[in-house]
Amino acid sequence: MQFFFDFERPELAERFSPSFRGTQIYKSVYQRWFDDFELMTDLPRAFRAELAQEWDIRLPRVQRRFDSTDGTRRYLVQLSDGELAETVFIPEEHRNTICISSQIGCALACTFCLTGQLGLTRHLTPGEIVTQALVAQRDNLSWDARDSFNIVLMGMGEPLHNYDSVMKAIRILHDEHGLNMSMSRITLSTAGLLPAIERLGTEPMIPNLAISLTGATNEKRNQLMPINRRYPIEQLLDAVRRFPLKHRQRVTFEYVLLRGISDSPEDAMHLVKLLKGIRAKVNLIPFNEAEEVPYKRPSDIAIERFQHVLIDHNISAFVRKNRGNDISAACGQLKKKWADEPATAGSRS
Ligand code: SAH
Repeated sequence: MQFFFDFERPELAERFSPSFRGTQIYKSVYQRWFDDFELMTDLPRAFRAELAQEWDIRLPRVQRRFDSTDGTRRYLVQLSDGELAETVFIPEEHRNTICISSQIGCALACTFCLTGQLGLTRHLTPGEIVTQALVAQRDNLSWDARDSFNIVLMGMGEPLHNYDSVMKAIRILHDEHGLNMSMSRITLSTAGLLPAIERLGTEPMIPNLAISLTGATNEKRNQLMPINRRYPIEQLLDAVRRFPLKHRQRVTFEYVLLRGISDSPEDAMHLVKLLKGIRAKVNLIPFNEAEEVPYKRPSDIAIERFQHVLIDHNISAFVRKNRGNDISAACGQLKKKWADEPATAGSRS
């Protein structure tokens, strides 16, 4: 069996004859949500039976869903080998956000990140990345509101470490006969894999770029994000300065506020200096506390003070609300906690 969601439409056109069959099936799967070839009555009956033998068009089953009181929903999506990918749906007034994973675990070992403690188990395939978004879309959005979401690659894993599969997943999500998502609705977040950022800048389709900084000097960032020892902060920001941006587009910088470590006004001033000359927007993320990591969330006063140093220097800075705290918020927390639990009943055997 081939997992349908791993394939781009041009690849399907090569496999089917006449080649427009690929487009027909694409529309049925992505736009009409069909999960059974028998529903595709625009295809010849014998062909439908053939397809059912060869292609899997069912979404992966949800091993577990966690509903937060604030409306946030987290999913553990079970993959074909039993691994669990973490996906989050975050409802917002004007647009919803679906946060998806690109790897099981992560190789980068950022000291404050729970996924970092797991190490890398494996990369996800394009279809495993795409179907996370479909699971969250179909479980949360009514038919009329089915396109009202953005996607952020901010779940488990480092998207640029799984470059080819992530870019393929983005092309699939963008396909006009699939979900038809514009690039402005997709954000890729990276810890700073510099060569891959440069490669991303040469792609025909480029999503929004978010850079996770958290440390604003090499000394601090080396401690928190080991990747900085390979690609130091100045080089990283030079690559960001060269990154192609559209009219009025900005690069997002994520900065995790850790009490006593990255939350002082001096840290904020370092950040101001770093971002000079960059069309930047800063998302301040108060640390999501977890038993396994020794850091603490700063006080609200410290958070506000930090934000105001940036704003006073004309940098757009937003404080990210911690959503879904009651359902294990921090990155990687869910998997660690629940991976060994028995599965609940689901739609897929
Ligand atoms: N590897 C990519 C994407 C996954 S992490 C990256 O580093 O950008 C997504 C974001 O969550 C990153 O900005 C990371 O710094 C942040 N993060 C990780 N653990 C966190 C925690 N415990 N509390 C708050 N933010 C966290």
